[in-house]
Amino acid sequence: QMSINYQTESMGSTWKKGDPVPYAVLCRTFEKCEATTKRLEITESLVTLFIQVIRLSPDSLLEILYMCISKVCPDYEGLELGIGESLLMKAIAKSTGRAMKALKDDYVTIGDLGTVARNSKGSQRTLFKPKPLTTSHVFKTLKDIAKLSGQSSQNKKVDKIQGLLVACQENEAKYIIRQLEGKLRIGLAEQTVLSALAQASVMYKPGFEKKSQQKKESELSTATDILKSVHNQLPNYDMIVPALLTYPIEDLLSKCSMRPGIPLKPMLAHPTKSLPEILDRFQDQKFTCEYKYDGERAQIHRTEDGKISIYSRNSEDMSVRYPDVMETITKWIKPTTQSFILDCEAVAWDIEKSCILPFQILSTRKRKDVREEEITVRVAIYGFDCLYLNGQSLLQESFEKRRQLLHDSFIETKNQFYFAEHMDSNDIADIQTFLDVSIQNNCEGLMVKSYDGEHATYEPSRRSRNWLKVKKDYLNGLGDSMDLVVMGAYYGRGKRTSVYGGFLLGCYDPDTEEFQTICKIGTGFSETMLQTLYDRLKDLVIPKPKPFYAIGDGAPAPDVWLEPQVLFEVKCADLSISPIYMAGVGQVNDAKGISLRFPRFIRLRDDKDPEQATASGQ
Ligand code: ATP
Repeated sequence: QMSINYQTESMGSTWKKGDPVPYAVLCRTFEKCEATTKRLEITESLVTLFIQVIRLSPDSLLEILYMCISKVCPDYEGLELGIGESLLMKAIAKSTGRAMKALKDDYVTIGDLGTVARNSKGSQRTLFKPKPLTTSHVFKTLKDIAKLSGQSSQNKKVDKIQGLLVACQENEAKYIIRQLEGKLRIGLAEQTVLSALAQASVMYKPGFEKKSQQKKESELSTATDILKSVHNQLPNYDMIVPALLTYPIEDLLSKCSMRPGIPLKPMLAHPTKSLPEILDRFQDQKFTCEYKYDGERAQIHRTEDGKISIYSRNSEDMSVRYPDVMETITKWIKPTTQSFILDCEAVAWDIEKSCILPFQILSTRKRKDVREEEITVRVAIYGFDCLYLNGQSLLQESFEKRRQLLHDSFIETKNQFYFAEHMDSNDIADIQTFLDVSIQNNCEGLMVKSYDGEHATYEPSRRSRNWLKVKKDYLNGLGDSMDLVVMGAYYGRGKRTSVYGGFLLGCYDPDTEEFQTICKIGTGFSETMLQTLYDRLKDLVIPKPKPFYAIGDGAPAPDVWLEPQVLFEVKCADLSISPIYMAGVGQVNDAKGISLRFPRFIRLRDDKDPEQATASGQ
C-alpha cells in the first residue's frame, strides 16, 4: 500500500510514499483517541497511524511520537512546551481577528482553549485555502517555540503561534493549541504510546497477518516488553526510534542499552505500615536496611569521556544547581573508576558538626542561577546504589554485588560523600533500634531492600515491592504521606486576608487523566510559607476549573481556581469516604470519593510533575 487517501470534513487528499506526513492525518488520529476512553481503542488508532507512517514516511515517526506525548525532546534536555493561556489567547486573537474579550468569554463558557481556537477559526471566512500543514513543520515550530526564553521572547512566540494557526484547517487549531499548552489530554499516556509503537514495529512487516493468532499475540507482547524495558533504561526517543526502524526488535536492548549521560527513571519503594510487615514480605529472602535520607534524589553520571552530570528524580539536569558538588566529585572517585551512574541522595549538611540537617534547610537552598560563592546551604551526598560501572550495566546484578562495587569504587570523603548507613539483621528489635537511630540522625526512616538473588536487581521506574520504605511517623497509620496538586485556593481570614489561607487539593487518576479533589487544607503553613505560596500561585489563577478537574457537587468552591502545577506533600490522620470529594470515585464507591482527615502541609514537592501526584489507585 503505497499511498493513503486521507479525508477530513471538507478536504480530501493523498499522502504518498516519501511525502511529508500531513498534520491532518495526526489530528484525525487524535480525534479518534479523544472520542473514546477505552485504552484498547486508543492503542488501536495509534497502531494504525504508526504502521502507516513506518510504511510511507518513516523519517517522520520520531516527530509524530513526540507530538503524541506533547514533548519536543528527552526530559533531561529541559525544553518544554506549556505556554500560558494569555499568550495563546493573544495569538488566537491575532490570527482570527477576534477580540480578546470575546475569546475570554468563550473560554469561560467552553473551558478548553483548543476548542475556542478551533471554533474561532471555523467562523472565519478565508479567500484561499492555506497550504496543508505537515507534521515536520508543526513539530519544528513547536520546538523553536520551546527554545525561546526570556521576557523579550513573548512577541516572537506569539508570531510563531499565529503563523501556525493561520495555516490550520478543520480541527488542527484545537490540537496545536493543546500541544502548546503541553498536554493533549486525550488519553495518550506515554505507556500507551509505547505499546502502540512496539506493536506497530512488528505488525507493519509483510507476512505478520498470516501468522497464527497465538504467534501474533506472543510477538506483540514480547515486543511491548522489550520496548518498555529499553525505554526504562534509555529514555531517549532520538536514539530508540532510529534503532527500532533499523534493527529487529529482539536486538533493540543490545543496540539501545543504558549509558552515562542519559538519566534513567529511578526505582521507587512501597510504603509499609509496621515492622512485622517487612518480615512478612521478605519471609526467607535476604534483605538489608538502610537509612532513608531526607533530601533530594540525585543520579550522578560520568561518561566514558569524563563528562560529569547530576540529574534529579525527574531526569532534569541539576548540574548547574550543584556547582559545589560538581567541583568535589572527582575527589571521591577511585582512580580505577572511569564511567559510572551513581544513585544517591543529596542532603543539607552542617560542615562544622559534620552532620545532616533537616530537609527544611535544604528547601531554602537556591534552585536557579546558583553561584558557588553565594551558597549558604551546603550539601553532602549519600551514595546508596551503583547502576553502571566502567562500561558495564549493573542493573541485572544483585544488590549485594552492586553495593560491593559501590564501596570498592568510591571513597568516603569528609563533608562531601558517604555511603548510606546499613544494617543487615532480620531481628525486629534490631530493625526498631536502627529506625530510631536513623530518626535521631535527621533521616526519614528506613529503606528495606531485597539483598541477593533475582529479586534484588535494579528496576528502573518501578515502584517495587523489593524496596520498602518505613517512615517512622506513619507506622501503624497510613504508611506514607501524599503528594497532591493544588487545584484552587481560599483567601485567608483575619491577618491573612492578603494571602491564600487554604487550598483545595487533588490526586491524579492516570486512567481518566483527571485531577480529583481530595481535601481542603489550611494547617501546617508558616506565615512565610503562605506568602511564598501566594507569590507563586497568584500567577496561576484561571477563570474556571479545568475540564479535567473532577469536583464533587457539594464541595465548597475555592475563591480562585488554579493551573495544576504546584504539589504539596501532605500528612493526614486517616482516610474517609466522602460525598463531597472525588478521589478514587468509582473505586471504593460509585458516587463517593475519598477525603483526608486532618490533612497537614509538610512541604512543597518541586521535584515532581503534577501527573506524578499520588494516584487515585494508590
Ligand atoms: P513517592 O512520594 O512517589 O513515594 P519519593 O520520592 O518519596 O516518592 P519513595 O519511593 O517514597 O520516593 O522513597 C524513595 C526515596 O527515598 C528515593 O527517591 C530517594 O530520594 C530517597 N532515599 C533516601 N535514602 C535512600 C536509600 N538509602 N535508598 C533509596 N532511596 C533513598
